[in-house]
Amino acid sequence: MKGKLVIPGDVVAIAEEYSPGKGTYEMDGKIIVSEAGELVMDSKTHTAVVQPINPVAEPKKKDHVLAVISDVRSSMAICELLSIEGTDRAVTGEREATLHVSTISSQYVESVGQAVRVGDVIRAEVIQSTPSVQLSTVNNHMGVLAAHCGRCRSVLISKDRSLYCEECERFEKRKIADDYGAAIVK
Ligand SMILES: [Zn+2]
Repeated sequence: MKGKLVIPGDVVAIAEEYSPGKGTYEMDGKIIVSEAGELVMDSKTHTAVVQPINPVAEPKKKDHVLAVISDVRSSMAICELLSIEGTDRAVTGEREATLHVSTISSQYVESVGQAVRVGDVIRAEVIQSTPSVQLSTVNNHMGVLAAHCGRCRSVLISKDRSLYCEECERFEKRKIADDYGAAIVK
């Protein structure tokens, strides 16, 4: 099954219509995502479930991976690998990867926090697999795929090559992928 990519904090249904299943919970009448993965809305049981994305195999150089940003430091972001796009390779190997400030964008990035933030899901290219996994998001197709507002946690929408919160009416800077907001798990 190919479903929409969701990240923690996404509101996927109202509680009158769907019950929370694995990977979601109910709060204030809304069904909210608690872990990154593939959204499955079961219309028979009226349950919203998030299936984990097939965990990564040994990442190889040039693989395209999905990862969630777990920590942002001055010169790099720490990422947890979620999957390798387009493969069903079995689970093994390293789950942690780093995205260095110099391999985020073809344009100058002043600080890592101007390009990615904790909780963002990114698509990245593996530029080194050993001894540690190093990622790049320089390519147009690489970068943030899903992100929330740092102030109100609403889903940010893509606007003018930047991200915008309709609730707070403010922009947030990110290095976004060319299909931000439309990415599906594959
Ligand atoms: Zn906001």
